[in-house]
Amino acid sequence: MSHPAVERAARERRQVLREWEGYELCAAYGIPHPPWALAHNEEEAVAAACGLGEAVVLKVSSPDVVHKSDVGGVLVGLRGERAVREGFRRLRAELERRAPGARWEGVLVQPVVAGGVEVVVGGLRDPQFGPVVMVGSGGVLVEVLQDVAFRLAPVDREEALRQIQDTACYRLLQGVRGQPPADVEALAEVVVRAGELLVAEPYVKELDLNPVIAGPQGCWAVDVRVILDRDVPSVGEGTGQTSSYTQDWGPATAE
Ligand code: ADP
Ligand code: MG
Repeated sequence: MSHPAVERAARERRQVLREWEGYELCAAYGIPHPPWALAHNEEEAVAAACGLGEAVVLKVSSPDVVHKSDVGGVLVGLRGERAVREGFRRLRAELERRAPGARWEGVLVQPVVAGGVEVVVGGLRDPQFGPVVMVGSGGVLVEVLQDVAFRLAPVDREEALRQIQDTACYRLLQGVRGQPPADVEALAEVVVRAGELLVAEPYVKELDLNPVIAGPQGCWAVDVRVILDRDVPSVGEGTGQTSSYTQDWGPATAE
């Protein structure tokens, strides 16, 4: 059975999950992400920001926008009610100006995750080799840097560590210019879980956690892009799970 976010998108004939749907999917596979809230108006944005942290990030939420920065859709490090209100209005104006016709669904509010190395963890389904998992230098320069290593999924922790060591960003993760080393073990765990997600969710064609912020005490995915196959069977159209015996199947226990 696919994750509910995948099922929902399939029913709505969408190939791209919303960012927050991506976080729901991540949570189901144990990939850490900061808390988030979707705000439909300024009041909700302010309330969410108060609950989430001293400094927050606002991101445009639109099913028609995949690369938010391209439409001025990400504001990092806003503090205080006034900044959040202004930010909300600005994201809306920028979307209208830079992507006329794109649907506005509100603003995603997240705390700022500070002090870490931006890496990308992701994967895709290769027609020949099946699910493949990727890790490397991330952030908005990912295409420019082209510093990623691939493995067939699933990978175990040791293999994920070797995979990280195959990239140039491993040096950064070890700590340069007085920066404390990042939690590479935690990053390896994210790679392992991304692989598990790809194996378990056959309709996920592409997964992009970019960036995962790797800090000294853990890693958090602060952006998620999930692309589905064009032909995901909707629920009831034969997802392969047609009978109930797959649930709770096992020997009875004495409890
Ligand atoms: P895009 O759709 O443009 O890839 P992202 O959500 O990745 O948008 O945000 C763009 C950049 O903003 C990220 O690469 C990262 O540098 C920064 N960023 C986004 N969310 C956070 C966060 N919660 N904490 C810190 N930095 C963030
Ligand atoms: Mg991104």
